[in-house]
Amino acid sequence: MADGAVADGAGSNWAGNIVFSADRVHRPATLDALRAIVAGSPRVRALGSGHSFNRIADTDGTLVSLAELPRTVDVDTAAGTVRVGGGVRYAELAQAVHAQGLALHNMASLPHISVAGSVATGTHGSGDRAGSLATAVRTVELVTADGDTLTLDREKDGERFAGCVVALGALGVVTSLTLDLVPAFEIRQFVRTGLPLPVLEEHFDAITSAAYSVSLFTDWSAPRFGQVWLKRLAGPASHLPEPGAGASAEADFPWAAPATEAMHPVPGMPATHCTAQHGVPGPWHSRLPHFRAEFTPSHGSELQSEYLLPRHHAIEALRAVAALGTVMAPVLQVCEVRTVAGDGLWLSPAEGRDTVALHFTWIKDTASVVPVIRRLEAALDGLDARPHWGKVFTTTPAELRGRYPRMTDFLGLRGSLDPAGKFMNNFLRRLLFED
Ligand SMILES: Cc1cc2nc3c(=O)[nH]c(=O)nc-3n(C[C@H](O)[C@H](O)[C@H](O)COP(=O)(O)OP(=O)(O)OC[C@H]3O[C@@H](n4cnc5c(N)ncnc54)[C@H](O)[C@@H]3O)c2cc1C
Repeated sequence: MADGAVADGAGSNWAGNIVFSADRVHRPATLDALRAIVAGSPRVRALGSGHSFNRIADTDGTLVSLAELPRTVDVDTAAGTVRVGGGVRYAELAQAVHAQGLALHNMASLPHISVAGSVATGTHGSGDRAGSLATAVRTVELVTADGDTLTLDREKDGERFAGCVVALGALGVVTSLTLDLVPAFEIRQFVRTGLPLPVLEEHFDAITSAAYSVSLFTDWSAPRFGQVWLKRLAGPASHLPEPGAGASAEADFPWAAPATEAMHPVPGMPATHCTAQHGVPGPWHSRLPHFRAEFTPSHGSELQSEYLLPRHHAIEALRAVAALGTVMAPVLQVCEVRTVAGDGLWLSPAEGRDTVALHFTWIKDTASVVPVIRRLEAALDGLDARPHWGKVFTTTPAELRGRYPRMTDFLGLRGSLDPAGKFMNNFLRRLLFED
């Protein structure tokens, strides 16, 4: 499309549970066109790949997609960094980075999500020593409310930088991010079956550190994890911290039996679209996500919620969730438990603490799911659970703000960059300012 061209109807998110309120989406093809759109619109939101499950990306003003901007992926092999355009998705970024012998430190479960949108919400993978995807960001380039450009740098902008990475689209439209890279590495993925909850409780640290990235899956029909996915470094990778490195791949996980066939996290679903298992070595980008890049689901028949808690609350939280097994059964497809290293990004759900993340894939039935979410949130009360910014939650705004020690600083930063609230929407206005 030409500069500033629009598509009629802003459409809906990936899951189809949110129809955007904007009547059109602008898809500028140049930075200047984007700047003009932002400067000339009273209310603007950036739309990434639309993989969020709530109204965080919505606006009744102007929705802007960066999908038609040049898909910049500039790898600097000497510096070990990549500068990536605001419309680029992880799958295409990963291919380009890998071709230069480099890698991202981690990936989310799905490679099709946009980099800028993922960073904006604190999207994460799993790994005791692996921070969220936003922790790789060194530089943020933004178009701010008046249409000007602003670059914030981790080395030069200190405190303020920590506020502008996981920023919920509230500070401006991110046109580029520069990310840290590491030397490319290989992963061997193993699946184990049948881990009882009491065993996890007894050996929590040993189990979550048994591989570079560990995911535990259950449908809570019993206090037991049907599957444990272990993503182990396949060779020497001294630049990467794998707590369990050095142990042989199959012999060192005594708590659950090896899977005999390839598995999908949701019981009964075919594993065709899942990344290779059985310990077959492969590049980081085709093992760290659970789902293959070649398979691009254009829409989803699910809703998701996720709560990120201090790691030291993990056992108490898991017991509370297990007790709701029969309540969740009619609406739960699968629950995934992951770990995330703590970081210093003000609005990151892993800010200030090593984290356990309890993720829930629900059936796509909002009316049936929301009452269960309320029960779940009540069960986690007192455990300092921060909901994933891009998923379905009912946590009250005051409670949510109280769980972020740097929230006041963020509100100050937002007010200084966007005093008229051009980048606010109803979702954020409520969460950031109402009771
Ligand atoms: C199948 C599936 C699997 C998922 N797996 C994981 C997972 O493993 N781990 C995890 O943590 N999350 C996961 N998520 C959630 C997902 O990563 C987040 O919702 C993420 O924000 C989606 O990115 P997006 O580009 O689709 O953003 P959108 O939903 O389009 O937007 C999200 C936010 O980012 C902002 N934004 C987008 N682009 C820009 C930009 N250029 N400038 C400024 N702001 C911008 C939007 O304004 C909005 O506030 C998953 C979601 C799905 C559907």
